[in-house]
Amino acid sequence: MTLNITAVSVGRSFALQKPSLTYLRGWGETMDIPLIMFVIQGDGPPVIVDTGADVERAVKHHKIRVEQSPEERPEAALQELGVDPAEVRVVVNTHLHWDHSSNNHLFPNARIILQQREIDYASDPVPWHQRQFEHARDVPAAWRRAEDRIEAIDGDVEVAPGVSVVALPGHTPGSQGVVVEAATKRYLLAGDCIDLYENWAGDAEAEHIPSGFFTDIVAYRDSFQRIEELDCEVVPSHDPLVVERRDFR
Ligand SMILES: [Zn+2]
Repeated sequence: MTLNITAVSVGRSFALQKPSLTYLRGWGETMDIPLIMFVIQGDGPPVIVDTGADVERAVKHHKIRVEQSPEERPEAALQELGVDPAEVRVVVNTHLHWDHSSNNHLFPNARIILQQREIDYASDPVPWHQRQFEHARDVPAAWRRAEDRIEAIDGDVEVAPGVSVVALPGHTPGSQGVVVEAATKRYLLAGDCIDLYENWAGDAEAEHIPSGFFTDIVAYRDSFQRIEELDCEVVPSHDPLVVERRDFR
């Protein structure tokens, strides 16, 4: 079984304040970031990790600048890779923030893999996190459109041959990464536990830098430790270089 991963941009978010990505660092700087859907292909049905934003909803509800070219529509991006959404049996959301989970409904035959803790928190977040989870809006959160197909898990689980979910709490209570045994090495699709390569690379002060957004920074430290032990090449969730490279084999 040879697996390969393709990182597909399914939208772009503009002018994010840098300290929201790199904890208490980069004051006064902004950054444009891609919203990435990962497509894992091999001998079996493809596995999808994160489904991006519903751009029309995002512009309306989140009042931030998000754009999507015609090629970045998830349907178009999948078609280009020869993937029929109906053949996908497994979708993993690294967490339930709107920019990672808003197109689950495009995969009518997939189980949606989520940590039970994430579902619980997304259903009742603290007020300051409600926007990211689209909680208590006038319309239900986008991820609820495929709610009936959610498979709630607790901890680490192999979800397809060579594809395993690992719990990495911190950014959110049920954040999870995905370890992929590819042809040449193991990769970790880290979700927002690691937004950018520079989060993992660290700086003079810290070995690794958390996202500026988190629910538990102590759990976050333990998740970094866990990632060290996994001994994988880390693939961040929002780094433009990931989209530029595109292929992880
Ligand atoms: Zn997030």
